[in-house]
Amino acid sequence: MTPDPPQPFPLRPLRPVRPVRPVSPALRAPTTPAVPGASAASVLPAVPAVPADPADPAVAAGPGHLPGPRRQAGHGDRSPLWVWMYHSVADPSRDPYRITVSPRRLDRQLAWLRARGLRGVCVAELLRARAAGRAAGLVGLTFDDGYTDFLDTAVPLLHRHGCTATVFVLPGLLGGDNAWDPEGPRRRLLTADGIRAAAEAGMEIGSHGMRHIDLTRAGPDDLHYETARSRDMLHRLTGRAPDGFCYPYGAVSPAVLTAVQQAGYGYGCAIDAGPLTGPLALPRVHIGESDTGPRLHVKRLLHPVRRRPVPCDPAAAPSAPSEGGGR
Ligand SMILES: [Zn+2]
Repeated sequence: MTPDPPQPFPLRPLRPVRPVRPVSPALRAPTTPAVPGASAASVLPAVPAVPADPADPAVAAGPGHLPGPRRQAGHGDRSPLWVWMYHSVADPSRDPYRITVSPRRLDRQLAWLRARGLRGVCVAELLRARAAGRAAGLVGLTFDDGYTDFLDTAVPLLHRHGCTATVFVLPGLLGGDNAWDPEGPRRRLLTADGIRAAAEAGMEIGSHGMRHIDLTRAGPDDLHYETARSRDMLHRLTGRAPDGFCYPYGAVSPAVLTAVQQAGYGYGCAIDAGPLTGPLALPRVHIGESDTGPRLHVKRLLHPVRRRPVPCDPAAAPSAPSEGGGR
C-alpha cells in the first residue's frame, strides 16, 4: 500500500477580504440525499479566495479563541447547528464512495463561506460559541478518518481562509490506511507525529475510535476499547483529552452513545438526524466535489428544515484549550 502522492495545488492570486465569522457534512456520500433543485451542471462563479490574514485575531489566536465583538446572539443561535462533513482532500476521480473533494473545490467552498460572512470552525469551538450565544455565522467543519491529506492539503487551505476544523483520527491505525473501504482507493492515515502536527496547526483532534468499526455491532469490551482507549491514547499523544467522538459510518445506538458519554467525551458527531440527535449525536451534512456554490446555497436553505435544533446545555460545552486539559 503506498500513500497517494501529494496533490499539487496552484494557489490563485488573492485579494484581502474583511474577515468575517462563520456559520457545516457525513460519512458515506451515497447516504446523503440529492439536493432538490440543485443543478450539478451549475458552476459557481469564481469567488476570490480569502487569505488567512495574520492581523485577524481569529487567525492569529487559533481555534477556541475567536474574537468576540463581531459575534452576537440572535435568532441564528436558535437555528440548527450547521456542521459540514469531509473525509479526504485529494483527486476525487477514483472514489467509489464519493468521500473525496479536490483541493480546488475545498478552496472554493471555504471561499463561499467567507464571502457570505460565515466562517468554518472546529466543532468544540462551535459548541462553545453556541453556549455563549455567539454561534451565528459559524459553521462546523469536520474531516473524518484522519488522512494524511488533511495535514498536507486541507490545513493550508483552512489557514488561508482563516478557518479551523475538527479531524477525527484513528489512534489504533496510526500510519495505516483505510482498509475498511474494500474498494479503495487506499489512502494513508496520519501517524502520531502527523496528529500532533495537526493539533499544533490549530486544529481540533477528535476520536474516530481505534479501528474504524461499526460500534452498533460491538460488545461492551470493544465499545470501551474504541471509545475510552482511543480517548486515552489521544490524550497521551497530544497532551489533551479529546472532547469529540465521531461514530464510524455514522452508526450510533443508545448503547454506543452511552459508552461515548461514559468515556468522557463532551460531544459526538453522527451523520443523519434521528431520535438520538443532540450534543452526543450531532447531525452533519456531507459536502462533496459536486457541491458548487449553487448547491451549497440550496443546502443552506434546506438545512433548517432537515435538521432538528440541537439542545444547548452551556454547562456541557467543551472547555477552551486555555482553560486546561481535557477530561
Ligand atoms: Zn470514517
